Amino acid sequence: MCGIVGYLGNKDAYAVLIKGLHRLEYRGYDSAGVAMLSAKGELNVYKSKGKVADLESFARSKDISGTIGIAHTRWATHGEPNEVNAHPHYSPSGNLALIHNGIIENYSVIRAELESRGYEFRSSTDTEVIVYLIEYIMKSNRTDLCTAVQLALRQVVGAYAIAVISRDNPDRIIAARKSSPLVVGIGEDEFFLASDATPIIEYTDKVVYLNDGEIAVISRGEDLKVVNLDNVEITPEIKKLAMNISQLEKGGYPHFMLKEIFEQPRTILNCIRGRINVEGTNVALSGVIDNREKFLNARRIVIVACGTSWHAALIGEHLIEDFCRIPVEVEYASEFRYRNPVIYPDDIVIAISQSGETADTLAAVELAKSEGAFIYGICNAVGSSIPRTTDSGSYIHVGPEIGVASTKAFTGQVTVLSMLALTIAHQRGNISEEKFIQLVRELQAIPDKIKEVLKRSEEVKELSRIFTYAHNFIYLGRGYNYPAALEGALKLKEISYIHAEGYPAAEMKHGPIALIDAEMPVVVIATSDSIYEKTISNIQEIKARQGRVIAIVTEGDKAVRGIADYCIEVPQVAEPFTPIVASIPLQLLAYYIAVNKGRDVDRPRNLAKSVTVE
Ligand code: GLU
Repeated sequence: MCGIVGYLGNKDAYAVLIKGLHRLEYRGYDSAGVAMLSAKGELNVYKSKGKVADLESFARSKDISGTIGIAHTRWATHGEPNEVNAHPHYSPSGNLALIHNGIIENYSVIRAELESRGYEFRSSTDTEVIVYLIEYIMKSNRTDLCTAVQLALRQVVGAYAIAVISRDNPDRIIAARKSSPLVVGIGEDEFFLASDATPIIEYTDKVVYLNDGEIAVISRGEDLKVVNLDNVEITPEIKKLAMNISQLEKGGYPHFMLKEIFEQPRTILNCIRGRINVEGTNVALSGVIDNREKFLNARRIVIVACGTSWHAALIGEHLIEDFCRIPVEVEYASEFRYRNPVIYPDDIVIAISQSGETADTLAAVELAKSEGAFIYGICNAVGSSIPRTTDSGSYIHVGPEIGVASTKAFTGQVTVLSMLALTIAHQRGNISEEKFIQLVRELQAIPDKIKEVLKRSEEVKELSRIFTYAHNFIYLGRGYNYPAALEGALKLKEISYIHAEGYPAAEMKHGPIALIDAEMPVVVIATSDSIYEKTISNIQEIKARQGRVIAIVTEGDKAVRGIADYCIEVPQVAEPFTPIVASIPLQLLAYYIAVNKGRDVDRPRNLAKSVTVE
């Protein structure tokens, strides 16, 4: 959940580390810290509560010299966010400094053991036990740092990406991973280390993604060495990064989130490029075609995901059952992994995760894999853990998503699920050629339809003013648009901190209708679809109780306009694709309300982009 950066080379390490932390701040941001070996041979650690900018102000007057260092932006799991608990953590003697992303589950046992040997801990984190244990092993076994790290990690239960530096060896960083991401960048006479490739891309495009149980030994003047916990050397696989630096900048927008909302016509085009042919007569996801037999014979599809990806999964359920007639179940990955689920070897398990690092989704994948299911990943971050663990999959290709509240990744996920359902249905013969081509063409037209919706952003901005001070919101939708309502409510909660709930529109009368009064804004997705009339009845029920209705309607709509307080139009699209276009005004509404309230839109409180802890 946190961000890790490391540097060893000829540059001023501090500048590289701070810039890297800024790039990773989306991953966690309650405190930050940096450790550097100075020109005088000192191991300096500076830490501060708050954001990376707070750390910079704090470190301004300090000795920030040195060409080797490690840095961290924290998202606390154990111990409150303060300077003491911020990383890096010193070893007892102050000879070592360590950063960590993840959770050490057996930290209390290790801590008690070390305390019984006279060690006194300074922080209340789980992390500090690792660096204490490493130093204890170095002293008691008289080993070098790398061996001590190997021995210490054998005792550790949990998830980690760590990096450690030592005052006694100013030319080396030891880094290791298990279940938390870590990438090594290889430059000319320099190395970089980071939780993802974003801090590395401006210096080099050569990277090595560490695998679970691997340790990187990064030494000045030597090649990268990778070993496992048993000290067996592993040949690192050097990959070339496809990202470019402009994808990581705001490009003139006030926030990444707004940039990412406006990018969606292009990101969806990138998502369908090479998958839908130019004539719009065919769609083929290679991950499905290459595993045709598996999909033809699937008994059931189970989709595991968390948060926004879980909402995309619910739309996927509609799409696959509708087009392919294969039963689908959607599960919260965090529940699935702990509830002893029934998984058949002829099940297909689809895992959806923007970052490809979501800890619960990754664990659900491992569980399903151990039961023999075929695993398909739908991810954005290329080379991340889930795509490397799954049997096959499709990237959504929407580019780096920096805003913590997901927007373009959601529409990208739904687009991939639409293509997946169409490909399977076509292969299985569940769909007529005519219907197939009609839907492919509709999907191909979605980027232009989103452009139309985005032209209405000023209208949504105006509307947002009226509702800025609402304390609660209800979001309703039916059929394909029920998950879109859940996603709309989640967006508002995440970035404006206004309480919002999503419901299937007809379910409202079974309880939530008690909440409706003249104070309650109700956002209803009421596009012209097969259950349009039913949705209108639900709007009547709200109006009868003085609720204030904001309706998302299809262009030219008359019936809803006659009863709703406010309407936002979206273009007509085939019913299965309405959640994609209907989500856009909901993203904009959440965005503008949050801006009106002065919220930190890209870095909302308590949240982090890539949830690499359970
Ligand atoms: N568990 C560690 C802590 O609370 C690391 C959390 C993180 O990954 O940021 O300090």
